[in-house]
Amino acid sequence: MANILNGKELAKKMRKEIKAEVERLKSEYNITPFLGVILVEGNPASEVYVRNKGKACKKVGIESYTQRYPPDVPEQVVLDKIKEWNEDPKVNGILVQLPLPSHIDEEKIIEYISPAKDVDGFHPINLGKILRGREDALVPCTPQGVIELLLHYGIDPAGKDVVVIGRSLIVGRPLANLLSLKRRGGNATVTLCHTKTKDLKKYTLNADILIVAVGRPKVVTADMVKEGAVVVDVGVNRLPDGSLCGDVDFEEVSKKVSWISPVPGGVGPMTVTMLLWNTLKATKMQHNIK
Ligand code: NAP
Repeated sequence: MANILNGKELAKKMRKEIKAEVERLKSEYNITPFLGVILVEGNPASEVYVRNKGKACKKVGIESYTQRYPPDVPEQVVLDKIKEWNEDPKVNGILVQLPLPSHIDEEKIIEYISPAKDVDGFHPINLGKILRGREDALVPCTPQGVIELLLHYGIDPAGKDVVVIGRSLIVGRPLANLLSLKRRGGNATVTLCHTKTKDLKKYTLNADILIVAVGRPKVVTADMVKEGAVVVDVGVNRLPDGSLCGDVDFEEVSKKVSWISPVPGGVGPMTVTMLLWNTLKATKMQHNIK
């Protein structure tokens, strides 16, 4: 039976460290990190995510405020709020909860956020900094969370054959780039798979580390993984009975691999933790604090 990549446990440990650092900023510099969240109502999952992010902030001492808008809010109203927060030195991080209704241009909204306050790490400037291997990049939360989870359990991607399934801008593509960087958490030989990949199994069977971010239950089955491999399941799928499951057939795959992340309790808690981390990092960079 595989060992568990326990994101819940690591998230708890990291949030303690973040809390201590937030307290240091308060006592030494009289600064309290502040996260501004924009939520356009109408998506039940977004409501849950935003509530969880707000609670997580509170627990580590980060202040947050959620600006809510009705589903038909004009795009300009959202842009104006972002502008206000971009210019407000008390606001250290800005997050616009995605997805947005179709009358709002997501790309335009993301680009409007000041890169220095872009705690989701989706702004082209931050994605470009990742490509350049810059340490001052605000890195998208889920990819960074996956790497922290691996490193915490002593699994260094360096020199490994890593296969990532899924090429979204929030998970797969930044993750593949981070894993290929010449630095800690990188140095892997990365293959990025998607729906146009011919013979997915040919690649997954070769993976020392397999990371799955697809959004379909049981897309990875036991016959697709190498004996002793490490499997990270990013997927979150809701089954008809209301329960959550990942993209990997956990029950069967876990009999064959050395490490596996569960859903829930794997990558999910790490994602929120990295948002707290990014808010702290943004605050420190804005104030030139080491
Ligand atoms: P997405 O934007 O829908 O992208 C899914 C990717 O998977 C696409 O690149 C798609 O390929 C690929 N794909 C779909 N079916 C495939 C198949 N049968 N074989 C190979 N590739 C396939 O999804 P996302 O936003 O990256 O999210 C992926 C999953 O992770 C979702 O379940 C989401 O809920 C979850 N997620 C979890 C967290 C967390 O914190 N735990 C955070 C973010 C996302 P094409 O590009 O060719 O269409």
